[in-house]
Amino acid sequence: EYVNINELFNYILDRFDMIIKKEEDPKKKKYTIERYFTKKDLWVEIDTDKFTQVIDNIMNNAIKYSPDGGVITTRLLETHNHVILSISDQGLGIPRKDLGRIFDRFFRVDKARSRKQGGTGLGLAISKEVVNMLGGQIWVDSVEGKGSTFYISLPYVPYEEEEWDDEETEK
Ligand code: ATP
Ligand code: MG
Repeated sequence: EYVNINELFNYILDRFDMIIKKEEDPKKKKYTIERYFTKKDLWVEIDTDKFTQVIDNIMNNAIKYSPDGGVITTRLLETHNHVILSISDQGLGIPRKDLGRIFDRFFRVDKARSRKQGGTGLGLAISKEVVNMLGGQIWVDSVEGKGSTFYISLPYVPYEEEEWDDEETEK
């Protein structure tokens, strides 16, 4: 099915905004979600539920592994044949030596650090499987102690305006 990815990504992030606003306790960590989206509607052939699951995983990680809160920056842009989404946090970051394993099943950075947070270490492995199934790629860029950015690219065929050749149809 063709999905308007601007609308869907906004809808998913709206839910996270609502969750965050519910936590009115001033001692709780504070987050802001920023969105930098292309204005153009991008129609992408994806499964809405599967895409939602991937973004939920990455957003939940961004919150879970940012103990001091901060800004979560999201972007959506198009290249000539892909849409690219990114989600950046200002959290713990991922050590360079672990970057290659982050999408492996059950892999978690520093067992002690992760145990407190809870989780199985499957979120990103499943996300990668889903993104690949949609024909896309997922990758990460991270600096320990500064934060992480997760990128997703999905195949995209730009919508070309049809050129109606009146002369031919009027024949
Ligand atoms: P689950 O998602 O199954 O509940 P999980 O969050 O531990 O458990 P993944 O989402 O697969 O599993 O992430 C794997 C590991 O990668 C995490 O345990 C964490 O160490 C690290 N990680 C993932 N996202 C981030 C992030 N945004 N910042 C810092 N570390 C991260
Ligand atoms: Mg996770």
